[in-house]
This record gives sequence, C-alpha cells and structure tokens, in this order.
Amino acid sequence: QEADLVELVEQAADAFRVTHAGHPLTVAPGPGSVKLRLDPQRIRQVLDNLLTNAAMHTPTGTPVSVAVSVANGTAQVRIADAGPGIPPADRERVFDRFYRVDKARSRDRGGSGLGLAVAQSLVHAHGGRIDMTSEPGATVFTVTIPLAVDRGRGPADGLVNTDTAS
Ligand code: ATP
Ligand code: MG
Repeated sequence: QEADLVELVEQAADAFRVTHAGHPLTVAPGPGSVKLRLDPQRIRQVLDNLLTNAAMHTPTGTPVSVAVSVANGTAQVRIADAGPGIPPADRERVFDRFYRVDKARSRDRGGSGLGLAVAQSLVHAHGGRIDMTSEPGATVFTVTIPLAVDRGRGPADGLVNTDTAS
C-alpha cells in the first residue's frame, strides 16, 4: 500500500493542533510529498503517539516541531519538543513496555507506558527504526522508514542472491 508520508504528517499535525492547543506546533518546510509503501493507519498511530508524548510529558506552552526529510534511501520524520527531556538513566528504557519515567505523575496523566513500545514495533514492521536523543530543552524522536523495502519474496523478484544469502 502506497501512501504519502507528508500528507500523514500534515493530518497528524492538524489533529494535534485541535487536541493539544496548549502546545505551539511547527511543521518545517520540506518535500511536497514522500510516497512510500506503508500502512497509513499504523504510521499515523506512530506519529500520534510521538506527538502526544511531546505534549503530555512537557509543560503546557512547550513548543513542538515536526519535520519530514529524505536521505540515503530513507524517509525520516523528526518530532522534537523543547521540554525538560528524558533523564539519561531512563533513556534506554522508554521503549520498554509499561516503562514510565515518573510513574506517579504519568498515572495522573493516564499513560500506560505502552505508547513507545507499540510505536517502535509498528515502525519495525515497516523495516524502519525509531531513534531518540534528549537533553533539557531538546528531545528528538526520529522515525526512519526505508523508501523501498526488500520484503524477501525470493529470487524470482531479483532481490535475493541465493548464492550469498545465509
Ligand atoms: P501511553 O503512551 O501508553 O499513553 P506513556 O506516554 O507514559 O503512556 P510511552 O509513550 O511509552 O508511555 O512513553 C514512556 C515514557 O517515556 C513516558 O511515560 C515518559 O516518562 C517518557 N517520555 C516519552 N516521551 C517523552 C518526551 N517527549 N519528553 C519527556 N519524556 C518523555
Ligand atoms: Mg505515550
């Protein structure tokens, strides 16, 4: 299924502006469209999870930005916030199921700690990855999806060299 990643980001941004009006959102100028094979509902869910985190885990008024780019045969969506950041000791674990940095406060916000685990598995299912960097004032989640995925249909597609595949 082919879909336009830029269109998905714009839809997610429109929804964010309604549901998280307390956080100014900037969509950076970028390519007009990036079409690739992806499941639009699942990738929309990933974008919504990351955008919701950028709002829910930062103080009201904290700016959020999103940018789409293409590089080295991949499409990237970068979701950044200017919040307090994720402490170094927790960075390894935020993708774990049910992991929340501040359990008591996160429970007040209704979070289950599943969002990033789900987002990561959805992106992995697209042959991609999610990377995160965080420091006070700059937390960045980057979703990388290959523009063309070798789905391993075998030598008939000319994608697999059975002589060297092991
Ligand atoms: P859920 O997404 O299931 O509603 P959640 O948001 O708590 O709950 P995750 O999305 O998996 O769960 O995030 C895990 C934890 O990582 C969060 O509880 C929060 O402590 C931390 N976190 C995630 N994103 C950010 C962010 N942008 N800034 C600061 N902390 C974050
Ligand atoms: Mg979440």
